[in-house]
Amino acid sequence: MTKIRIGNGYDIHRLVSDRALILGGIQISHELGLLGHSDADVLTHAIMDAMLGALSLGDIGHYFPPSDPQWAGADSLVLLTQVHKLIRDQGWQIGNIDSVVVAERPKLKPHIHKMRDKLAAVLELQPNQIGIKATTNEKLGPVGREEGICAYAVVLLVASE
Ligand code: MG
Repeated sequence: MTKIRIGNGYDIHRLVSDRALILGGIQISHELGLLGHSDADVLTHAIMDAMLGALSLGDIGHYFPPSDPQWAGADSLVLLTQVHKLIRDQGWQIGNIDSVVVAERPKLKPHIHKMRDKLAAVLELQPNQIGIKATTNEKLGPVGREEGICAYAVVLLVASE
């Protein structure tokens, strides 16, 4: 029997002025950016939580606590590399990732391929192992009012041997 595990992750960060907007490791030109202790890359955070959840390893707040100045302004791709090493060290590899970013603005479609290629490079995957969709929230709720951007991710892990 193939050993497989599944995990899901969710994250949301507040949109503010004077912050860069970084999603999937890509900086996107916009008048607002996401507020957070690290670079607040919600997509990468949701993916990391899905990876950890698949192995019942807790969440990213446990490994990279906001109270730790070491992670202030951290590049989330560096954190992703660490989480990836953690799951590989336990004998697992990623089968595929699927994700959704919910943002009212800016239009993310032009950036999806770059995000996918960036995450694939960091995780040593083929780009077609990573799904990234973008949708708006139809102007509903805090995401619809452009108060924040959220992301959902599902990750399938496959035993390495
Ligand atoms: Mg986060």
